[in-house]
Amino acid sequence: MKILILGSGGREHALAWKIAQSPLVDEVFSAPGNPGTDKIGPCFDLDITDLKAVQELALQLNPDLIIIGPEAPLAAGASDALRARGFDVFGPSQQAARLESSKGFAKDLMQKYGVPTARYGRFDDLTEALDFLETMEAPYVIKADGLAAGKGVVIAETLEDAENTVEEFMTGKFGEASSEIVIEEFMQGEEASVFVMTDGEGAIYLPVAQDHKRVGDGDTGPNTGGMGAYAPAPVVDARTLELVQTMIVEPMLSGMAEDGMPYQGVLYVGIMVTEAGPKVVEFNARFGDPECQVLMAGLPGDIVPALLVCATGGLAGAHAQLCEMMGLSDFRPSAVVVMAANGYPGTVEKGSVIEGVEAADAIDGVTVFHAGTDVNADKKLIAAGGRVLGVTATAEDLRTAIAKAYEGVDAIDWPGGFCRRDIGRRVL
Ligand code: ATP
Repeated sequence: MKILILGSGGREHALAWKIAQSPLVDEVFSAPGNPGTDKIGPCFDLDITDLKAVQELALQLNPDLIIIGPEAPLAAGASDALRARGFDVFGPSQQAARLESSKGFAKDLMQKYGVPTARYGRFDDLTEALDFLETMEAPYVIKADGLAAGKGVVIAETLEDAENTVEEFMTGKFGEASSEIVIEEFMQGEEASVFVMTDGEGAIYLPVAQDHKRVGDGDTGPNTGGMGAYAPAPVVDARTLELVQTMIVEPMLSGMAEDGMPYQGVLYVGIMVTEAGPKVVEFNARFGDPECQVLMAGLPGDIVPALLVCATGGLAGAHAQLCEMMGLSDFRPSAVVVMAANGYPGTVEKGSVIEGVEAADAIDGVTVFHAGTDVNADKKLIAAGGRVLGVTATAEDLRTAIAKAYEGVDAIDWPGGFCRRDIGRRVL
């Protein structure tokens, strides 16, 4: 079987790495891929939000399954365009992916289906938004409706800061993406990421992960795409997970199916574990990056049958068998430490040489996933983005997995990069 993966991050390298281990798979293609996926199978350089180009590549390669990694092609309608050409696709339709690409849409659906989330208002009129702010209490949570690369959420401590943010957003800070906004109640609690693989009806729950969004140790500094993650996260106990299932995931999936927009692919449910139970912070329409790295590293079995069934249907009937093939009950504790280029999440310098990746990879249980890497004219690995490597480790317990991941980090010689030194501190 041939599988095509769209995307070029650590998430896509982890997916390609896992999928290539399946006895069902002969070839893994990546578009555009990165120097990590290049070692797994052929990479094709193209703009994956260009639907015509994506269709043409698929027709040329004729894969048995196409997996869409990031949100941008999903929001652009890549899965619909590929399904229209007869391909099996793991990834939601453009309409279902609005759960991520429009926060207002997601909030409205949650309200409609009675899913627990923060009280909110949705606005495209500045005066109405400012009036609503006055009915809320500090801290104020203000969100751009559309995709803003993880920068579209501001938590303001004072009414004045909140008003300024609302005004900035609605007068063009993120263009179209923030011309409409959501203002919501602040939720107190601990965050966790629940990943559900689904064909629109049945659901496979992957181990709960936790990530580290802030750039600095001790959760300081600006937000990033994610500086590290680990799974399973003990913050979500069996009772909480049952509530996530019955109060959040089941009503969302059945509601969306009834409303004619069944959700297929992986649903990322960002939850806040509050005193009143789990509440939704956000939905994403794809695997988290870097959470995907720990999920792929920790799964001992074959994920390909489950990916296929999510794309083609029939999950409910095959549920137990698919979980067993994935080795879900033998999931191995895993951690990933992200190494980023100096300056990230601000402006970063590209081109610095990275040594020692092979040495890190050679450590038992350690796998280094590439994200923003490239190869220079001397065939040396260099930094070519903000988040550059995901040093991932698996072990018998989380403490050892985290220690191993740092052993991997320490084997890498890259003065142009940095990482957080406290990944997993909440479990340690
Ligand atoms: P991501 O980069 O994860 O896609 P995003 O831009 O889509 O982020 P959210 O995940 O909705 O935005 O919010 C970003 C962060 O802001 C959350 O991870 C959480 O820490 C915080 N946050 C968002 N909404 C709330 C809320 N209602 N109460 C408390 N904290 C919140």
